[in-house]
Amino acid sequence: MEFIQAKTIISGYAPNNPWFGINYNMNIYKGCNHGCIYCDSRSECYHIENFDQVRAKENALALIARDLKSKRKTGVIGTGAMSDPYNPFEKEYKLTRGALELIDRYGFGVSIATKSDLITRDLDLLKKIARHSPVLIKMTITTADDKLCKKIEPNVVPASKRFAAINKLAEQGIFAGVLLMPVLPFIEDNDENISNIIKLSHESGAKFIYPGFGVTLRQNQREWYYSKLEKLFPNMKAKYIKEYRNAYECPSPNAKELWNLFTSECRSYGITYKMEDIIKNYKQGYGGVQLSFFS
Ligand code: SF4
Repeated sequence: MEFIQAKTIISGYAPNNPWFGINYNMNIYKGCNHGCIYCDSRSECYHIENFDQVRAKENALALIARDLKSKRKTGVIGTGAMSDPYNPFEKEYKLTRGALELIDRYGFGVSIATKSDLITRDLDLLKKIARHSPVLIKMTITTADDKLCKKIEPNVVPASKRFAAINKLAEQGIFAGVLLMPVLPFIEDNDENISNIIKLSHESGAKFIYPGFGVTLRQNQREWYYSKLEKLFPNMKAKYIKEYRNAYECPSPNAKELWNLFTSECRSYGITYKMEDIIKNYKQGYGGVQLSFFS
C-alpha cells in the first residue's frame, strides 16, 4: 500500500450535525477497493484520482493523536464517508484500530460506516469507548440477497456476513444498525428485498435502519455505474436513461410504496428509522459528554 502526505486527519468541530450527530470527520485512507458499482465517492468533484487504489496517510496515528489533543471539545468522530475504514489493508496495517485506541484514550465517541465484518475485530475497543462516550456502527446493506450483493459490492463480504457482524456487535451491547442506501432503482427496490432486510436486521439485533430509496448519479460516477450495468444487468442502462436522463437524484419509482412498507414493518419490529431518534438513542446516557456536544 502506498502512503501519502497529509497535514491533518480530523476535521473541525461541527455542532448539531444532522447526519447522525457526528461532530468530527476522520479519513485515514484515501480511495477504496470494495468496488461498489454505485459508489459516489469516485465522483470527479471529490478529486480522488485512481479511486480504486487504497492509500493511507503517512504518520496517520501521530497526526490523529495531535489532532485529538488539540480539540477543545470532545464529540463523536465519524469515519467511513469517503472510504471504507475496514478495507483489506486494514487487516495488516491496523490504522483504524490504532485510531480507535486514540479515540478511547482522549475520551471521544465514534461513528463508523462500513461494509466489512472486519469491524468485529475491534469489538474490544468499541466496548471500551462505549464505557465513556457514544458509539454508533452503521453497516451498509442494500440487498438481502448474497448473490446480488456480490454483483453490486463485489470486493467485500456479502450481506449475510454483515448481518452476522451486526449480531456480534449487538450481542456485546454496541449500538449497531443498517444504512439501507442506496436502494438501486429496478434492481433492489422491491417489497421482498426491503422486507427481508428489515426481518434480518431485526433478527441480528439491529437498533435502527436508515433508508434511501434511490441512488444519486453524477459525472464520471454515472458513466462508471452505467458501464457496470451494461455488464451485469442487460437492458438496465436504457431503462435508467429513459427514467432519469442526466438527473443527479434518481429516486425509485416505488419510493412511496416502499416507504410505507418500510415504516410499517420497522414499527412492528420496534426498529428506529428517524434520524433524530437514532441520534437521541445512541447518545442517550452519556450526560456529561453530551453537554459538551451541545455547548
Ligand atoms: S465501500 Fe463505500 S467508498 Fe468503498 S467503494 Fe463501496 S461505496 Fe465506495
